[in-house]
Amino acid sequence: MEKKPANRIQDYLVFGEFGGVNPSITDSSTFTFLTSEKMSEIFEHEIEGCYLYSRHMNPMNHFLSDALALLENTPSAHVFASGMGAISCATLQLCHSGDEIVSSRTVYGGTFALFKNIFPNLGIKCNFVDIINLDEVEKAITPRTKVIYCETISNPMLEVANIPELRKLADKYNCKLVVDNTFTPMIISPYNLGAHVVVHSLTKYINGASDAVGGCVCADKEFISSLKDVNSGYSMLLGPTMDSLRAASILKNMRTLHVRMQQHSKNAMFISRQLQELGLRVIYPGLENHPQFELMNKLMNPGLGYSGMVTLDVKTDEIAAKLLPMMQDNLVGYFAVSLGFYKTLFSSPSHSTSSEIPEDVRNDIGMTGSIVRFSFGLDFEIERTFERIKECLYNVGLLK
Ligand code: PLP
Repeated sequence: MEKKPANRIQDYLVFGEFGGVNPSITDSSTFTFLTSEKMSEIFEHEIEGCYLYSRHMNPMNHFLSDALALLENTPSAHVFASGMGAISCATLQLCHSGDEIVSSRTVYGGTFALFKNIFPNLGIKCNFVDIINLDEVEKAITPRTKVIYCETISNPMLEVANIPELRKLADKYNCKLVVDNTFTPMIISPYNLGAHVVVHSLTKYINGASDAVGGCVCADKEFISSLKDVNSGYSMLLGPTMDSLRAASILKNMRTLHVRMQQHSKNAMFISRQLQELGLRVIYPGLENHPQFELMNKLMNPGLGYSGMVTLDVKTDEIAAKLLPMMQDNLVGYFAVSLGFYKTLFSSPSHSTSSEIPEDVRNDIGMTGSIVRFSFGLDFEIERTFERIKECLYNVGLLK
C-alpha cells in the first residue's frame, strides 16, 4: 500500500551521535579525505556518505533533503537557501539561451519577475498563460519550450492547476512540468500526479515558524545530481546553499507539518463558510462554488483539508487599506506578507507579493486592490477570530 506523506516523514529515522533522537548537526564547511584517490573520486561523482564541501552538500542538508523527498514521494531532493534559489536553479538547469518557458500568469510575484525581467537577459523567453485554460497552454508551447511552470494552487487567486492534464501536454511536446507546491504541502503530491519537478518555499508551511528562509527541489536522482554537478550544476555554481544549522531547525519543525496543515485547513474552512454566509465574495478551494472544487477533491490527499489560504474581495482599495491595519489592532493576526505561521497573516497582494505582475495582467485575473489574502493560523478558538474579523468588517462599512 502507498504510504501517506505524513507516515513517510514519521517513519524517517536518523540517529544522532551517542544515539540522539535528532541527527547531529555537522557544523563544517569542508570535509577531510583519507586518500588522494578518494578526493579525485568524490570530485568526479557523488559517493553515498562522502562529502567534499558544504556548498555541494553536507550531512544535515542531506537529512532534510531526504525528508523532503519522502514528503513529495520523489526519489531525491535538494535544499536551498530560499524558495527563489530553488525556483531559479531548477528552471535554469532545464532552460538555456534560446529556450522558452510557458508559465501560469498567476504565480508568486517574485517568480513572475524572475521569468519576465531576468530570464530574457539570459536569452530565455517566458510566455505567460491562463493555466486553467489548457488550450491556451497548448497554443503557447513552441518547439523551443522546455518547461511548463505553475503553482499547485495559485498565489493569491487560488486557482487549482490540473497537473495530470498539464503532464500530458508536457509529454506531447517533450518538455518538463515544474510545480511550486508551497501552498499545499502534504495536501497535494504533484509528483504522484505527474510533475517532473516539485519546488517549495520552505519559508512557509513546511517550516511554519516564520523564523527562516529556505527552499527545495524534489525530483528524480538524475535531475538532483545535475543541480549539484561541480562543472554544470546551478545549485553548486550559483551557490544558494542552505546553512546546516538552519536545515536542522527546519527538519525538526517539519515533523509537525501534518498536525499544522489540518488545523490551518480547519480554521480556513470555518472562516470561509462564515464570510460566505455574510454574502461576501470568498475564494477558497474547499467551498463548493470554487471553479475547481471538483478537481481539487480529485487531486488532494485525504484528511488534511484544503490548506489555510483564503482570498476575500472587500470591494474597494480604500476598504482594504483601512481593514488590514484595523485587523492587526483588533488582534486578528499580523498585517504581514508570507504564510504558514501560527498566527493569521493578511496582506494586499496587489500592493505587495504580486505587485511585480503588471497591472493589466492583475486586472485581467481579478487581482485588484480590493483583494485581501489571508493565511489562517493555528488559532485554538477560530470562532473568536471570526468575531474579531466581523467587527472590523462592520467598522470599515463592508457589512451594514
Ligand atoms: N513560491 C511561492 C508560492 C511563494 O509564495 C514564495 C514567497 O512568498 C516563493 C515561492 C519564494 O520563496 P522564498 O521567499 O522562500 O524565496
